Parts: sequence; structure tokens; C-alpha cells
Amino acid sequence: MEIVRTVAWMKQVARQARADGRILGFVPTMGALHAGHFSLVRRAKEQCSPVVVSIFVNPKQFGPSEDLQRYPRTFDADSAALEKLGVDYLFAPPPEEIYPAGFQTAVEVEGLSNRLEGRSRPGHFRGVATVVLKLLEIVQPRFAYFGRKDAQQVRIVQQMARDLELDAEIVACPIVREPDGLALSSRNAYLKGDDRRAATALFRSLQAVEREISSGERDAARLIVAARKVLDAERGVALDYAEIVGAESFEPVVGIRRKCYVLMAAFVGSTRLIDNGFIEQDGDSFRFTF
Ligand code: AMP
Repeated sequence: MEIVRTVAWMKQVARQARADGRILGFVPTMGALHAGHFSLVRRAKEQCSPVVVSIFVNPKQFGPSEDLQRYPRTFDADSAALEKLGVDYLFAPPPEEIYPAGFQTAVEVEGLSNRLEGRSRPGHFRGVATVVLKLLEIVQPRFAYFGRKDAQQVRIVQQMARDLELDAEIVACPIVREPDGLALSSRNAYLKGDDRRAATALFRSLQAVEREISSGERDAARLIVAARKVLDAERGVALDYAEIVGAESFEPVVGIRRKCYVLMAAFVGSTRLIDNGFIEQDGDSFRFTF
């Protein structure tokens, strides 16, 4: 595996792959890698060669009071794991490569970016869209892999790819969870003791929604009540939002229908976690995917 530190060299590698008619796959990450990231890499390896993984903790997607400084950084372990998985290139530029002095462009996917995560984290998706577009321009992948863990993020990136006629196909991959249901996240490293146990409340509240749906409940407000009950019962967990939204619009729905998401964010101690479940109509019943 080659570690690439500059934009110029990454572009050179990408151009060559394209000229050789190879199918380049790309997995953008912020490092502190876990089995969720690795599942994206494996998926990319199945479909593409070469595979490029980026590690870049993007300052533009963190708010002023968020955890940019203390975000976990485990480069040596990440790099060793990616090498073992057979990744061809690890693109790990320093911040000044991506945002040199004088950088003044931002990408805004309107509407979708202001709800849910975007409402709680103003400017977050503008930072995400800006860096993802820049990375896609540098790496020029045929396929780029994102986790459904960040469902709103994937939706926004797909919208951007559609609106701007990007060549990359955006592939959404399943959520990888711990055996007790907690969705893997680099931020889980912050959870100690009681917080780690309490963090399963997000998954348990999704299970409560699934149970209600399988016993016939279709009303979004009542399903959210069921989710909140689980979260409110857990001390040390403070709900930020829990909503059921259409899978395309990310607008709240009144009753569940064809394709929607239950999306939630909660603080467990001082750690902010997100999770979601996908609800899909299947004949007269609904399928729930965690
Ligand atoms: P991050 O490093 O948190 O920016 O995440 C990089 C990519 O990994 C994003 O597309 C995430 O959605 C994805 N990802 C993070 N956690 C998981 C998970 N538990 N399961 C699947 N994908 C994930």
C-alpha cells in the first residue's frame, strides 16, 4: 500500500488508473478506523481495483464547540489495518493540502442540509459536501462508498453527485453494529463505563419502533413516542432529535410509507451519537433494517 500525502500525486495516480481503464473505488474516512469502515473497504475491493481510502479529519465539518481537537487519531493502526485488507493507496493529506491559504469555495446542498443533523450542527453538511466534492475531484473514482450509518450524509452526497453530474457512483452500505446493537463509530472511543452501556439505548429504541410496526402501528408520531420512551428511561442519555422522514425528501412523514428512515441523535454523557433504521414497505407489511 502506498501512502499518498499530496493532492498532486493522488491526482497523478488517479489519472493513470483511468488511462489504464481500471475501475477505481474510493472510501473517504476521518480515520480511527473500525469494522464499519472496513466493511466499506471490503465492498470496494469486491467491485474495484485499485482501491483508495482517504483519512482526513475535515476541520470544515466541525462546529466551533465540537470535538475537532480531541477527535481520535490512530494513524499507524489504521494504516496497518488497511494494508492488511489489501488497499492500494492511502490518501492522507495534511489540512493545508486540502485547504491551502486563500481557499474560498463552499458547496451547499440546499434544503436537505438544514434539517436534522444540519439543524443541530449548523454548517456541518456544507463542510461535508465541500470536502467530499474536493476528494472526488482529486481521486476521480468510478464508485465511492459511504455508510448508511450517516444516512442524511449519503443522501446529500447522492444529491450533489446528481446535481453536479459527477462521474462517481455513490454506493450506500449497511450499518455495522456491535453484538449489543451499538452502531460502530469512531466516537464510541469516548464512551466509558456506564456511558457505553447506556449508549445501547439508541439501538433499543429502534427495536421498540420495529416492534410497534410489526404489531400494526403506522402512525409516525406514536412510533416516535415508543422510541422516546426507551431513550427517556435511560439516565445519562439526552435526546437531540428522533424523527421519521421520507427516504428521498428527509421531510417528516405522518404515517410510515414506502421508504422512510427513523433517524435519531442523542448525547450519552458528553458524547453525541447518531443512529437510524430504514423502513421499507413489503406488500402489506413493513421491513425494518437496522
Ligand atoms: P467517518 O470516518 O466517521 O467520517 O466515516 C467514514 C465512512 O464510514 C462514512 O461513510 C460512514 O458512514 C461510514 N461508517 C461509519 N460508521 C459506520 C458503521 N458503523 N457502519 C457502516 N459504515 C460506517
